[in-house]
Amino acid sequence: MEKIKLKGLSFTELAELIATWGEARYRADQIYTWVFRHLVRSYAEMTNLPVWLRARLEEDTVLETTTVARREFSPATGTVKLLFSLLDGQAVEGVLMRYRNWFSACISSQVGCRMGCRFCASTLGGLARNLEAAEMVDEVVALEREARGAGGRIRSVVLMGTGEPLDNYDNVLRFIHLIAQPQGLGIGYRRITLSTCGLVPGIRRLAREGLPITLSVSLHAPNDELRERLMPVNRSYPLTELLPACREYAEQTGRRVTFEYALIAGVNDSLEHARELVGLLQGFTAHVNLIPLNPVVERKLKRPNPRRVSAFAAVLKARGIPTTVRRELGTDISAACGQLRHQVLKDEGMLR
Ligand code: SAH
Repeated sequence: MEKIKLKGLSFTELAELIATWGEARYRADQIYTWVFRHLVRSYAEMTNLPVWLRARLEEDTVLETTTVARREFSPATGTVKLLFSLLDGQAVEGVLMRYRNWFSACISSQVGCRMGCRFCASTLGGLARNLEAAEMVDEVVALEREARGAGGRIRSVVLMGTGEPLDNYDNVLRFIHLIAQPQGLGIGYRRITLSTCGLVPGIRRLAREGLPITLSVSLHAPNDELRERLMPVNRSYPLTELLPACREYAEQTGRRVTFEYALIAGVNDSLEHARELVGLLQGFTAHVNLIPLNPVVERKLKRPNPRRVSAFAAVLKARGIPTTVRRELGTDISAACGQLRHQVLKDEGMLR
């Protein structure tokens, strides 16, 4: 029988599990405290638990589902990128970003991705499998250890690593509920951002959950013709379906939707594109986040120069659309978009 992954259990589920072993509820409190406050890596460290209980936990459950296989640190920005090995030998990456005195964790939701966006490294090898909720929690826990080591705490979590979160809906939603638990990591729903390439049924389903999490939609083009070339998903869910779903999300949750727009030189970065984008978002209380493309060797696409980025942003701002240009925290350590995992797979001859 496969062992239960402890970090995939909610507090209530853990209490129920140990109740079936004849143990009292306060033991669940103790275990959760060890796991999420003290961030211990083994049951042996849970010294206030009876020895038999530690043995039982050891026998029936797994505490750690990830080990850090590689660590990269950027002294310039304080960004840490971790490559995690999973129990089945697969690998995913997570990134810790520093903002003055608090941290944000960017985590992966799948091993690889099957969405096929032309500019993205995560999708180059296709999808290997979905991540389980416990594995995603472990990404956050490992990054929280890094944050503590640097004297801070993770305040927000973004699902912007490898994978399409809405293509792994149930596990991702479970993960979100798990990290939001006050007895656990206590990361409030408002501090969790889910980024999607635009799977409309998933957006609508998420809207109905009524959670105040931030939805970030990867737009990258102001019209269907161009978006289809960059993002195959647009063939299934064109803008005429995507934008109403975003509107529904904003209405149901009261949260402003963020649109991500990766600027690619000579492809989607002209002032004409900017004006078209203004038209598309007319009447929308949206926020646009411009990301100068992180070049991916395999993709032959380039980022525009900074002047062009500012000019694009200026068109949006002049029309009253709140616009930011993504601060770059990881380009020097391949922390962008599936690039570390891809690099390692290449180095190890696992990709051709
Ligand atoms: N699958 C989800 C989340 C993962 S990617 C999504 O598509 O939103 C997080 C963001 O990085 C997305 O907006 C994605 O389109 C963008 N991205 C991917 N590759 C990039 C690259 N090379 N340069 C800049 N942004 C990129």
